[in-house]
Amino acid sequence: MIIVMQPEADEAAIAAVEAKIRAHGLDVHVSRGTERTLIGAVGDERVLDPEMFDPMPGVEKSMHIVKPYKLVAREWHKTNTVIAAGGVPIGGSTVQVIAGPCSVETEPQMTAAADGVAAGGARLMRGGAFKPRTSPYAFQGKGIDGLKLLKDAAARHKLPVVTELMDVRMLDAFLEHGVDVIQIGTRNMQNFDLLKAVGEVTTPVILKRGMSATISEWLMAGEYIAAGGNHNIIFCERGIRTFETAYRNVLDVTAIPVLKRETHLPVIVDPSHAGGKAWMVPALSLAAIAAGADGLLIEIHPNPKDAWCDADQALTPTEFATLMGQLRGVARVMGREL
Ligand code: PEP
Ligand code: MN
Repeated sequence: MIIVMQPEADEAAIAAVEAKIRAHGLDVHVSRGTERTLIGAVGDERVLDPEMFDPMPGVEKSMHIVKPYKLVAREWHKTNTVIAAGGVPIGGSTVQVIAGPCSVETEPQMTAAADGVAAGGARLMRGGAFKPRTSPYAFQGKGIDGLKLLKDAAARHKLPVVTELMDVRMLDAFLEHGVDVIQIGTRNMQNFDLLKAVGEVTTPVILKRGMSATISEWLMAGEYIAAGGNHNIIFCERGIRTFETAYRNVLDVTAIPVLKRETHLPVIVDPSHAGGKAWMVPALSLAAIAAGADGLLIEIHPNPKDAWCDADQALTPTEFATLMGQLRGVARVMGREL
């Protein structure tokens, strides 16, 4: 961290800044210029924050010089990390597709959905048992029964399962029911207690981007999980909020190469919650793979029009199978399998 002093800062002000840096265990390097003094904090500056120095007498401004995240940063880990998600490698040479309904509804619905996931060639199945709904009167998910329905349906095709955790108190139940990948949804990206809790287990975590989160905030949310010891993190871009109302969210395609540069961890894309309409899903999926995504999270439903949640954005199993064929072509151009 560098602290820039005001031109009129006196020796006492400089000494006070030095003392504060040393009190946090870092060394100090003072550079006296003709107009002003710069004070450098030498050591792991992540324990320091500009707000510790900015209010002090004689300080003009202070700033970090290294990135605030470390464990998730490519700076510290050059090669791509491949995460084993229920045995399926994510982040390697194969682009992985996770598919399934928005929410777990019934046994026949889940059986048909699992058949569609497997027939299309996806390697993991999704399905929400605990649903974060805007209205408290809307269907909230099947809860624990939903976890069982998801596991049973997926087991017929040996598919690992991905499902959203909203509440720390349900974590043990997720582990007991053999959830293979825990999804942290957009609304909980900065639920720090939840992030700390999933940081203490070894189950892979899909961390969705907060709908208004910056890339730095998103990476720091990942850092929370990693700091607890769980390095099995997969970032998922799912669209952000902008002024545009013609679609549900704006798929931030730019975030894909930026994130791949910033982190060694896998980056996947959810085109369903980005566009919010089934007809947009193919275009967004193709763009995501072309931009370098390591995988996709796609909503499919045996009868989309009857879906209990997000009916407008689910693909039919047939549409999904067609899309998978198209995706294979783009993956090949990118030098990857699918
Ligand atoms: C979901 O994947 O079911 C979901 C609710 O997504 P998001 O958190 O991105 O809205
Ligand atoms: Mn959904």
